[in-house]
Amino acid sequence: MDTPRQGWMDADLTLFQDSTRRLFDKEFVPDEEKWRKQQHADREVWHKAGRMGLLCVSMPEAYGGGGGSFAHEAIVAAEQARAMVYGFSNNVHSAILAHYILNYGTEAQKQRWLPKMATGELVGAIAMSEPGAGSDLKSVRTTAVRDGDAYVVNGSKTFITNGLHADLVCVVAKTDPQAGSRGVSLIMVETRDLPGFRRGRLLEKLGQKSGDTAELFFDGVRVPAANVLGEAEGRGFTQLMQQLPRERLLIAVGAVATMRRAIDETVAYTRTRQVFGQPLSDMQNTRFKLAECETVATIAARFVDDCIARQLEGALDLSTAAMAKWWTTQMNCQVIDECLQLHGGYGYMLEYPIARMYADARVGKIYGGSNEIMKEIIARGMAA
Ligand SMILES: Cc1cc2nc3c(=O)[nH]c(=O)nc-3n(C[C@H](O)[C@H](O)[C@H](O)COP(=O)(O)OP(=O)(O)OC[C@H]3O[C@@H](n4cnc5c(N)ncnc54)[C@H](O)[C@@H]3O)c2cc1C
Repeated sequence: MDTPRQGWMDADLTLFQDSTRRLFDKEFVPDEEKWRKQQHADREVWHKAGRMGLLCVSMPEAYGGGGGSFAHEAIVAAEQARAMVYGFSNNVHSAILAHYILNYGTEAQKQRWLPKMATGELVGAIAMSEPGAGSDLKSVRTTAVRDGDAYVVNGSKTFITNGLHADLVCVVAKTDPQAGSRGVSLIMVETRDLPGFRRGRLLEKLGQKSGDTAELFFDGVRVPAANVLGEAEGRGFTQLMQQLPRERLLIAVGAVATMRRAIDETVAYTRTRQVFGQPLSDMQNTRFKLAECETVATIAARFVDDCIARQLEGALDLSTAAMAKWWTTQMNCQVIDECLQLHGGYGYMLEYPIARMYADARVGKIYGGSNEIMKEIIARGMAA
């Protein structure tokens, strides 16, 4: 059962949602088990997603994109989360990196990268986090030092989504280490056959096991000076901050979709499971627990709908996006935990979707800015 969406869905978007759901279920879900075992999807999945029109749905057609809006992006994100397909992070690639390029890139940069991202010829990643710097991004140690017509990049990044397949990595680096946040730039690194660039371990994760999350190393990597995003140094921190509300909202969109799926799975399971001579769904505890979950999922969907409508108007602020991110990811974990409990021992078995959801959902409270950082942002907004 879908929670009816309010304020931003229309008949065309509903059709788009239906076809996107069918695509994920038919074309990607069957491969997930294999990808989970090998801890990454096959590179071909990106070409396939490109052929099916799932990449860069909100990029202008002039750059090879689908010409849609954030609403289309939100639908793809929700359907991918509902389908539990983690083998390729379309959010990082299409909804985040492509928008950095669209918003801050020069015309030449847009022409060079966006059409290839839309087909899956280029896979995108964003490399902010380092072994010693996650929440505190100002303390990144990766440097990009100007040398003639190039930057020389040195440093190491970790936890990088799409890290195994990435051909285009947006590296957060210090171009002026003395200038604090004003010394941070976004350097676009094309990784194919690039001397000094190395991928490290594919990291073994608690959940989202089919996703390739990797370490990346840059050892004297020379990047053309024209690859600074927007061809202007020192704007990286501002560029990151301006895009954060949409990134966080997309995490919230995924959390809402996952909650919905968890409840649907549990309603179906408890109807068939017999306990003490009656369906588990008839027990008052089951009915009350599911009623609580349904209430939370509905409130979450309504709040996120409101955030999507604001985002479409260009009016989503940092604080509201932070609320959406922390609260929905927290509630997602809570709802899934209740649903898992109602599955009994089967809920602990990975062959049941609810067990995988339990593990997959946990990272929502950590990445995209941890939930503690979200509360810092909200509290700062209250003090202003
Ligand atoms: C599966 C996965 C995928 C990821 N993908 C990417 C990616 O594609 N690109 C990328 O750059 N990064 C990525 N990350 C990294 C992610 O963004 C960081 O893990 C996250 O920002 C937290 O940073 P950290 O791990 O260094 O934790 P730390 O910053 O060391 O935080 C540790 C704890 O301290 C808390 N804390 C930190 N500062 C404060 C504070 N000021 N007040 C209160 N509490 C605080 C945190 O909330 C956390 O609970 C990914 C991480 C994971 C797990």
